[in-house]
Amino acid sequence: MESHKKQILLRDAGRCVYCGRSLLQDQESYLSLTIDHLIPKKENDASHVQTTVHYIHNLENKVLSCRNCNALKGDYIPEGADLSEFPEHREATLNAIRKKIAAKRAHALQEFLEAVIA
Ligand SMILES: [Zn+2]
Repeated sequence: MESHKKQILLRDAGRCVYCGRSLLQDQESYLSLTIDHLIPKKENDASHVQTTVHYIHNLENKVLSCRNCNALKGDYIPEGADLSEFPEHREATLNAIRKKIAAKRAHALQEFLEAVIA
């Protein structure tokens, strides 16, 4: 295992930082493990967030995420996130992303219920 991944696994205690699900419970949960970039990699290209370039590949910008949370998050960046001071606002950024994912999950639950009840 690459050392970065191992470090992230240890720091995040083997759980998705967004929903808290254990990704080390069994092989299937491990297969759903992804490494998410809090600030998406492709933002690197946007001139207005050039300041993020230096830490985009840092450990602080990488978190353990289950595949579903990663997909629900997409390229979302919290409104008002001060990217230039991102390291200091990591926890606030994390919480804003958790909120966004929870809202999308609730919406998906609604769709699910409509699909199975119909
Ligand atoms: Zn998750």
